[in-house]
Amino acid sequence: MTGRVVFVGAGPGSADLITVRGARWLAQADVVLFDALTDPALRELAPRARWIDVGKRGFRPSTTQSAIDSLLVRCARAHAVVVRLKGGDPGVFGRLEEELQALAAHGIPCEVVPGITAALAAAADLQRPLTRRGRGRSVSLATAMSREGLGNAAHRADTAVYYMAGRQLAALGRRLLVAGWPADTPVCVVSRAGWPDVLASDHTPATLASAALLHAGRPTVVAVGTGARALGLGAATAEEPPAKTARIAPYQDRVETRTA
Ligand code: SAH
Repeated sequence: MTGRVVFVGAGPGSADLITVRGARWLAQADVVLFDALTDPALRELAPRARWIDVGKRGFRPSTTQSAIDSLLVRCARAHAVVVRLKGGDPGVFGRLEEELQALAAHGIPCEVVPGITAALAAAADLQRPLTRRGRGRSVSLATAMSREGLGNAAHRADTAVYYMAGRQLAALGRRLLVAGWPADTPVCVVSRAGWPDVLASDHTPATLASAALLHAGRPTVVAVGTGARALGLGAATAEEPPAKTARIAPYQDRVETRTA
């Protein structure tokens, strides 16, 4: 018997940010291979499945990619529905290509269910659209952790969102300036987007390093450029913030947290 493997994007945090389709596959799952960043409350969506933690976090001891690939193949040979649950969207910095290739090499059918990637959750939490009419016509998703270091800080899109940047904020700030982003470019650091305890702080490239302490140990994205700029929604919004939205508090440059 060969089952199928369904890659499901869990979204960035709270369990209610998964898609309906993703939740339906979880309900049918025999086995779920999950990442470290996914909400434990998701387990309630797959009550009869065996859950296996294959989580990887940068700089920590973790399951190797080839071990995950072969575990997926073994699970698909033993079960009808194997869900590979990944944080955010499976196709954004999720090593999806390697897992798809490993399964294809063994003739195992696969399906991919998209999820809300961290950049989109951060933009939603802060009510800062990543594209803006006239001024924000392009968006790039980039990793700050690469073999070339921070070589991709180049100013190629109106808004750039950096993943895996949490430990290199100072270096990223310097690289943005070297890459030609103006000194007054808005830079917004958002950690645990999509969770009730999301935190955000506003900076410029030169002050980005000061965000390190606030966001330490939390999954963090850094938005740079047009889409990082606050809308300036005016007094009405400041007095009466919409439910679940950030309140602005003084901190170095500026910090936002959600109201409880
Ligand atoms: N596939 C995931 C990204 C995996 S790479 C997605 O689509 O979102 C892991 C990186 O994603 C983290 O280092 C961090 O930069 C970012 N990330 C994941 N969850 C996050 C969250 N809730 N808030 C902010 N950044 C997050």
